[in-house]
Amino acid sequence: PETITVQELANRMAARQGEVIKALMKNGVMATVTQTIDADTAELIVEEFGHRVRRVAESDVELGIEGIEDTPENLVARPPVVTVMGHVDHGKTSLLDALRTTDMAGGEAGGITQHIGAYQVTLASGAKITFLDTPGHEAFTAMRARGASITDVVVLVVAADDGVMPQTIEAIKHAKAADAPIIVAINKIDKPGANPERVRQELLSHEIVVESLGGDVQDVEVSAKKREGLDKLEEAILLQAEILDLKANPNRSAEGAVIESRLDKGRGSVASVLVQKGVLNKGDIVVAGAEWGRVRALVNDRGRQVSEAGPSTPVEVLGLTGVPAAGAPFVVVENEMRAREICEFRQRKLKEHHVAGQVAARGTLDQMLA
Ligand code: GDP
Ligand code: MG
Repeated sequence: PETITVQELANRMAARQGEVIKALMKNGVMATVTQTIDADTAELIVEEFGHRVRRVAESDVELGIEGIEDTPENLVARPPVVTVMGHVDHGKTSLLDALRTTDMAGGEAGGITQHIGAYQVTLASGAKITFLDTPGHEAFTAMRARGASITDVVVLVVAADDGVMPQTIEAIKHAKAADAPIIVAINKIDKPGANPERVRQELLSHEIVVESLGGDVQDVEVSAKKREGLDKLEEAILLQAEILDLKANPNRSAEGAVIESRLDKGRGSVASVLVQKGVLNKGDIVVAGAEWGRVRALVNDRGRQVSEAGPSTPVEVLGLTGVPAAGAPFVVVENEMRAREICEFRQRKLKEHHVAGQVAARGTLDQMLA
């Protein structure tokens, strides 16, 4: 991951070093002017200072990928990728479980639900939505630390009987820093003490203005427990996706990001990836972070082997030489030699980075997700 010293960050923003240090402290990061902070933290600070963030994708520079132009003509609509965030116990896991069962394709396609860090539902209309369900959602922070963003829409779960809580506020900050539009899911409306209107009011002071209060943030009342409002929530997500005009070029070699990975006794390295561009095929040579390999098998979220995976599809990749980090970008390359070359370069760089001290503001986010 990229890092920057506090001094350099202050210089680039033309801000006082003391102000930057204060802002860092407010975000739970203690650092002196000469210390380095990670890009994710830096981005939060930059946005707090009211600046826009522009990051240069490191992977493209390193890989020197050329020749693949995603012109408007070759872009095709793709499903939205959604992350569910919110305060602990407000119902993130329950909501993800409930939404999962709205999948219409599941029955026919068969297979048993597999946890691969994300799943896709196909609605009655044929529209698809991809949900990230990585425990702790390390991927979300890790992605951003690496300059990538995989989430198109954040569903902010707020329990109607509890209202806006500290981790709700943090989730709002992270969604804003990631530039992901928020849809508010006011959960637990089945509970006697539920007060959805209070939630809307409380969100006002965090610059989340829902439509009924004159803003442009969609809100949906749901009960994950009673399975109420799920279709409305999905409609809201699809409407947001339409506004975002999400597209990708399917006719190119694949690119995307690792959601999670592990070493499996029987299957070796198993990496769950989200394809963001192009189509990933069995047999492709893939570089993921500092690991590479020829794709031996692709397994979908129903535990079924598939021969390919297109944009916004989560899929397990078997055949990598090692276990890539969550959040690492993956890309298909032309041959093994190129793959080895890139991985050697990256492994060398990783060692260098390891030496440089790194302050991570990651704990808080991990706690409030999933
Ligand atoms: P998380 O920490 O945000 O993932 O929250 P969970 O999904 O684990 O839910 C926390 C608790 O709230 C559990 O006991 C759930 O059964 C309960 N819960 C979640 N959604 C609802 C709901 O819509 N209504 C009611 N009454 N309880 C809910
Ligand atoms: Mg949970």
